[in-house]
Parts: sequence; C-alpha cells; structure tokens
Amino acid sequence: MRGKLITLEGIDGSGKSTVAEKLQKNPEIKAFNPVFTREPTRGTLTGDAVEKAIQSDTDQLAELFLFTADHAEHLSKIIKPALKSGKLVISDRYSDSRYAYQGVTLKTRLENPLEWVKDLHRGWTIVPDLTFLFDIRPEVSVERCGKRGEQSKFEKLEFLRKVREIFLRLAAENPERFIVIDASRSSEYVEKEVTEKILEFLNRN
Ligand code: ADP
Repeated sequence: MRGKLITLEGIDGSGKSTVAEKLQKNPEIKAFNPVFTREPTRGTLTGDAVEKAIQSDTDQLAELFLFTADHAEHLSKIIKPALKSGKLVISDRYSDSRYAYQGVTLKTRLENPLEWVKDLHRGWTIVPDLTFLFDIRPEVSVERCGKRGEQSKFEKLEFLRKVREIFLRLAAENPERFIVIDASRSSEYVEKEVTEKILEFLNRN
C-alpha cells in the first residue's frame, strides 16, 4: 500500500521547523518510522540553487523554476520512493509554499499567478494526504525571526500578509486536506495538536 504524505506549511517564523524537530523525537510519531524531509531540499544541486536564489536578487520567474526543479528532484529522489515502500513522509514545506509565495512574487508578471503555478505542477506532483497550516500573524512571526538576524526578502511584513492570505484561501478551498493550527501558541502546544491530529489521521486511513 502507498504510504502517506503529510506537509507542514506556513509563513516564515510560524514554527514549522521547530515542530518538525520535536516530532522527530516524539515517541508516538517515531513509532511509525517516518521519513522527515523539507523543501528546499538540503545538500542537493537544486536545493542549493534555490538557497542561493533566495539570498540574491534573482528574477522571480527564474526563482519559481528553480523551486519547481527542486520539487521535481524531491519527488523523484525522496517522496516517491518512500511512499512506494509504504512509509509515512513528513515534509517541512512543500508545493503549497510555492502556490502561496510565488502567488505573491509573480503578481506583477502574470495575470493569475496562483492558478498558473498550480497548473505548472499539475500531472506530476503528488498532492499531500494531510497539510498543517501553521497560521500566525506576520507581526508575530517576523518578531520571532528577528532573533535570527538578517531577514530574507521573504520575511517582510507586507509580503507575508499576502502570503498568509493565500495559504488561508488554499486551506478554505481544500478543507478535506488542510488542518489550520494556531501557530501563535507555544511550540509545546502546537506539537501536541499536530501529534494528535496525525495519530487521528493515521488511525482513520
Ligand atoms: P519556520 O520553520 O516556520 O520558519 P522556525 O521553527 O524556524 O519557523 O521558528 C522561527 C523562530 O521562532 C525560531 O527562533 C524559533 O525558536 C521561534 N519559535 C518557533 N516556534 C515558536 C513558538 N511556538 N513560540 C515562540 N517562538 C517560537
């Protein structure tokens, strides 16, 4: 039987990576022997290209294609083989990040960037079985990231407001797949919520 794909989404500083790390140590989750992964991928040609693009003044369409190339590489090298062998896969960011972020960055270039970027993925991506949206006000997440030092161009307040709007729209349009979590709570609370929902989901499916 095909495994299950769970994704963690949300704006920068919403606490995805913190919770992903906690889940890796959580005995109830570890019992399923999950594969933890992320986008952009780490230590790969495509993932490194994305990281460089994010940190520099790269053309926004070029950036989209680098992210998309990395998504293809992620699918073929990690996601598909794991799902094929029946594993549970948990990814810190996935295609919804592309829809939300590039849905904003490409607004001046394309008439309907969200639909355009979704179309670009259609037919070859794998839609997650369950997606957690770590929802938080950008004012709070940016404040958290302040501790991280220099902010990337993706961490600007106005920009993140628009990204959050698209994430919320995607969640509203796909209620069977999305679970919206209040990410302004403590990371312990969020971890507990996410763990409960993952266990519920795995018991049902
Ligand atoms: P993301 O992966 O979504 O960008 P991170 O997990 O890297 O977010 O968290 C961003 C910053 O916020 C880090 O400094 C982290 O320690 C802090 N942080 C994460 N979750 C919480 C939380 N629930 N409450 C307060 N601070 C948090």
